[in-house]
Amino acid sequence: MPQAQPIKTRSVFAITCVVLVLAAVIGGLGAHVVSTMRHSADAMDDERALRAAQSAISSMKLRMNNTIRDNAVWDEGYDAITNGQAQEWVYSNWGKTSEDYPLYEAVALTGVDGSNISSFWKGQKFDPRASFGQLFLDQVAKASAENANPVVTFFRRGDEIVLVASQAVQPFEQPTDDRDYSVLSFFKVLSAQVAGSMATEYQLDDLILSQAADTRLLNVALDDLRGRPVGYLSWPTKSPGTKVFETVRPYVIACIALLSIFLTAVIAAGRAEARRMKRLAEAARLQATHDNLSGLLNRMGLIESLKHLLGQRGHRPPLVLHLLDLDGFKPVNDAWGHAVGDMLLVLVADALRGCHAEVTAVARIGGDEFALVQVGPADPVDIARSVLAVLRHPFQIDGRTIEVGATIGFADEDAIQDPHELLRRADMALYQGKEDGRGRHVAYSRDLDLERERISELESDLRRAVERNEIRPLFQPLACAVTGQVKGVEALARWRSDGDNVGPDVFIPLAERSGLIDRLGLQMLRLSVQAAKAWPDLSLSVNVSPIQLCNPSFAGDVLNLLAVESFDPKRLVLEITEGVLMSNPDQAKRAIDALKAAGIRFALDDFGCGYASIGALRQFGFDRMKIDRSLVLAVDSDGSGIGVLKATISLAAALGIPVTAEGIETGRQADVLREAGCDQLQGYLVGRPMSPEDISKVIALGDEAA
Ligand code: C2E
Ligand code: CA
Ligand code: CA
Repeated sequence: MPQAQPIKTRSVFAITCVVLVLAAVIGGLGAHVVSTMRHSADAMDDERALRAAQSAISSMKLRMNNTIRDNAVWDEGYDAITNGQAQEWVYSNWGKTSEDYPLYEAVALTGVDGSNISSFWKGQKFDPRASFGQLFLDQVAKASAENANPVVTFFRRGDEIVLVASQAVQPFEQPTDDRDYSVLSFFKVLSAQVAGSMATEYQLDDLILSQAADTRLLNVALDDLRGRPVGYLSWPTKSPGTKVFETVRPYVIACIALLSIFLTAVIAAGRAEARRMKRLAEAARLQATHDNLSGLLNRMGLIESLKHLLGQRGHRPPLVLHLLDLDGFKPVNDAWGHAVGDMLLVLVADALRGCHAEVTAVARIGGDEFALVQVGPADPVDIARSVLAVLRHPFQIDGRTIEVGATIGFADEDAIQDPHELLRRADMALYQGKEDGRGRHVAYSRDLDLERERISELESDLRRAVERNEIRPLFQPLACAVTGQVKGVEALARWRSDGDNVGPDVFIPLAERSGLIDRLGLQMLRLSVQAAKAWPDLSLSVNVSPIQLCNPSFAGDVLNLLAVESFDPKRLVLEITEGVLMSNPDQAKRAIDALKAAGIRFALDDFGCGYASIGALRQFGFDRMKIDRSLVLAVDSDGSGIGVLKATISLAAALGIPVTAEGIETGRQADVLREAGCDQLQGYLVGRPMSPEDISKVIALGDEAA
C-alpha cells in the first residue's frame, strides 16, 4: 500500500514528460517543415531568377553576336573596306545610323595593327582606344585571330557598362588564306531602359545595373574579356516562401502560443497532480502506518521504524523491543462495552507514550497489545517494571475506576536484521509471561525457542498419536467409602511416545491449544465405553475438557456415540472442572442440560483447588463433587485444613450432593474423609490407574471377597 502512491506519482511524471517530449518533437518537426518549405521555395525562386538573368545576358550577347556577324561577313563591305573606301563605307553604313539605332550606339573599324580606321559614337567620331583602352585592342586582336567567330564581352566606360561585339570584316566565302583583317566592333550601352526591358521580358522585378555586387540582392556578373566582372545585374529576391510565411506567420505564432499554453498547462497539471499524489501518498502512508484509535504506530509502522533503527546499528545506543499485553482488558470490554474499552486503550496509549525517556516509539499492534521501542543503555527490566507500575494505577473513565495490568515480554536486538524476528522473539517472551501467570515481564532467551520447538514437535507427535489411536485409557477404581466395594472407574488418558510416558497434564493442554481435543476426547470416550462394557455393574467416569463442552456439537456427538456403542447413558459420569464453565456458561449449560436429559450424570472435578464454587454446583445441577487431592493432603498437615475439608463436605451434603475424595493414599486419609461424609474414595489406596484386564481382576477379587 505505501508503495502504490509513489508508483502513481512516478507515472504522472512519466506521462507529463512523454506529453512534453511529444509536443516538443511535433512542434520541432512542424517548425522544421515550415522553415524547410519557406527556404526551399525561396531557393527555388532565386534559382529560377538566376537562370532567367543568365538567359537574359546570353540572349543579349547572342543578339549582338548575330548583328555583328550580319555586318562583318559581307562581300560588298569587305570589298569596300579593302579597296580604300573604308571611311565612307563605315560612315554611310553604320556611323550615320549609330545616332539613333536601337541595336548599337557606336561602331568602330580597327586595323590589324590596332589603328583606328573609322569610329562613330552616336554619329560622332570617337577613338575607342581612348574610351576602352588596351582591353579593346586585345578583343580586336582576338576577333582578328578567330576571324570566323565574333567576340562579345562587356566593357566599362566611366559609369556605363557597354556590351562590345567584334568580328573580322571578311567576304561571305570563308577566306582560306592567313591574312589579317580589320575588325568591325559594335557597342551597345546597357542603359536603365535596357535593364527595364530585360526585367519585363524575364520577370526580374526591380532589376538594376550595378557596378559592385550587392549582398542583399541577387547578382549576376557581367564579365570582360579576362573573365573579370565589370558590373552586375542585380535584383531583389522575391522570396515567395518567406512571403507565404509572412502571410501565415500570425497563425504560426498563434499555434506556437497555443502550444506553449498547452504545454504550460500540461506541466502545471502534471505538477499539481504529482503534488496531489504525493499528499495522498503521505496521507495513505500515515494511515497505513498508524493506528486510528490511539494515534500510535500500528504494526506496519512499528516494522518500518524497527527496520530503520536496525539499519543504524553501531550509530546509536542499543535497542530493545518490549511487547505488552493488557491483562483483564476483555472483561472491561465485556462489562462496560466497546466505547469504554476504546477509551481505556487511548488512556493506556497516552500513559505509554511518555513512560520513559529511552522509549522512542510506541505502537499498538493488536487489540490490547502494544509495543515499546527502547533505544538506550537502561536495563530493560527496569523499564518493564516501571511500565507495569504505571499500568497498575487505576484509570478513571466516566466516573468508573478501571484497573488493568499488563504482561511484558522483551527482546534485545542481538544480531537481528529482520524486524519480524525481533518481534517474534519479544512475542515469545510475552507468551511465556502469560503462561507463567501474567502481570510479569519476561526476557527472551534461546531456551524459549527450544521449548517452543520441543512443544511443536510434541504437538505433531500428538497429532500422529491421535490419528493412530495411540492414546488409550487406564482405569482407576472408585470405591464405596463404607464397604470399600468398587462402584465405578475413572478413565485416565495415557500416551507412550517414543518409549516415554507423556502425562495427561502435558498433552491434554497441548491438545486443547492445537485443536485436537475434540477428536481426542471422543476417542477416549469411545475406548472407555468399549472397555466398560465388560463391567456392567460399574459406573464409568470420563474427563471432559472445557473446550469440548463449548463445542456446540459436543452433546450430539456424545449421545450418538453411546447409541452406536449401545451404552447405557445412566452409567456415564462426565467430570468437568469449573473454570471452564465460567468462560462460556450458556453454551456449557445447554450441553449439560441436553446430556443430563439423556440420563448422563456430571461431576464437578478438582473442587477446592481454586476455581470451584458452591454456586456452580447448583447452577449447573452437578450430581457429584470431587474433592481435589490438595484438600485431601491437608489431612496430613495440621488441624485447620481438616476443618475446611469437613465444612466443604457438609455444605455439599446440605445441597444433597454426594462427594468423592480424590488422591487417597493412606488409611488415615480414608478414615478422616469417610467420617467427614465422603461416600466415595479414589486414590492409590484403593487402586492405581490400571489396564482394563487388571480392573476385571479387581472386580473378580471383590466378588470373591463378597
Ligand atoms: P484428574 O481428573 O483429577 O485425575 C486424577 C489424577 O490424579 C490422575 O492423574 C490420577 O492418576 C491421579 N491420582 C489418582 N489417585 C492418586 C493418588 O492417590 N495419589 C496421587 N499422587 N495421584 C493420584 P493423571 O492421570 O496424571 O491425570 C491428570 C489430569 O489429566 C486429570 O486429573 C484430568 O484432569 C486430566 N485427564 C486425564 N485423562 C483425561 C482425559 O481423557 N480427558 C481430559 N479432558 N482430561 C484428562
Ligand atoms: Ca477427573
Ligand atoms: Ca480431579
